[in-house]
Amino acid sequence: MADPNSVITFYDERVLTHQPSSDVPFLPGRLDRRIRKLLSSLNVPWTYPEHPGRLTTIRHLLEVEPVPGLQFESGMAATREQLGRVHTSSFLAHIFELRGKNAWLDNDTTAVSPGSIEAAEVAAGTSIAAVEAVVQGRTESAFALVRPPGHHAEPVRARGFCLFNNVAVAAAHARAALGCERVLIVDWDVHHGNGTQDIFWADPDVMVFDIHRASPFYPGSGGLEEVGVGLGEGTTVNVPLPPDSGDEAYLRTFRDILVPAADWFQPDLILVAAGFDPHPFDLAMNVSYDGFAAMTEILQMLARRHCGGRLVFVLEGGYHLLSLSRGVRTVLHVLAGGESPEPGTRGLAEVESAAAFHRSAFLQSD
Ligand SMILES: [Zn+2]
Repeated sequence: MADPNSVITFYDERVLTHQPSSDVPFLPGRLDRRIRKLLSSLNVPWTYPEHPGRLTTIRHLLEVEPVPGLQFESGMAATREQLGRVHTSSFLAHIFELRGKNAWLDNDTTAVSPGSIEAAEVAAGTSIAAVEAVVQGRTESAFALVRPPGHHAEPVRARGFCLFNNVAVAAAHARAALGCERVLIVDWDVHHGNGTQDIFWADPDVMVFDIHRASPFYPGSGGLEEVGVGLGEGTTVNVPLPPDSGDEAYLRTFRDILVPAADWFQPDLILVAAGFDPHPFDLAMNVSYDGFAAMTEILQMLARRHCGGRLVFVLEGGYHLLSLSRGVRTVLHVLAGGESPEPGTRGLAEVESAAAFHRSAFLQSD
């Protein structure tokens, strides 16, 4: 078993070559005409929200404020066979034809630039590398810092800035090649992981637990009653929440629903589709850094209880660069054994002593 609190961060610069820009000509066609019309109706210039600066900002923060003990390793590209465990061959053929081109993939403005296909292969492969390191016992936990993100990518469709479903490719690899029997995927990105749900919808050996902002928020799926089908009925768990839900709702979800679900499912590996867009800076929810830390502590506890500590984070969304980079660092700090206060308690000890200090000043004298 790996050393407690050992953590490897996986990062590969090839993921930076995915850089769609609407300033250059895209493959012509109906989709291009539709999206150009949509973008020109906006009153502000549009830039692709899921950009390389997301990862370079995280790397920069980890350089200027290093997490003690954190190791770095580079990633690798996923093979067609590895991707083919969760995507259809016709979808993969379509995506691979776009190598070297600029093109729209979906009317939700998901796009590719000339380097995107390799970046997406490396994002999926680097997620596999993180899982292999943990299953081989080289580290207790790992974090794959990858992009494009993955959890909206369906078996036959790229969507929501996602090309290949990285966390699903990693889970399928753990099952098919690494001897894992039951994999739990916890998705705390603010958007529902529709693609991951679709891929494992009827699979009893991969539990998908997803907490997100409820429909009609993008992508609109993830209702409470969506629980899987056939043998997989019960291994899809959705917890849709109203706008601006915060630490208490998230932690109660983890303690009251996730913990018993994990105890029942008995995973031998836990993967986390970790988006940092529930932070208030992304304007959809209200989860603080201490909230992310507390959720990480619960996942670490579950991984140690059921999986010999095996816990792998895969980056999903998070678009405000400050909360994204701070959020990632907060998770790594906890994985590496750092302490974090219970959410909502920061400063309370100081208030107590300030109250004691001032107490006599405001006493009424008779
Ligand atoms: Zn998201």
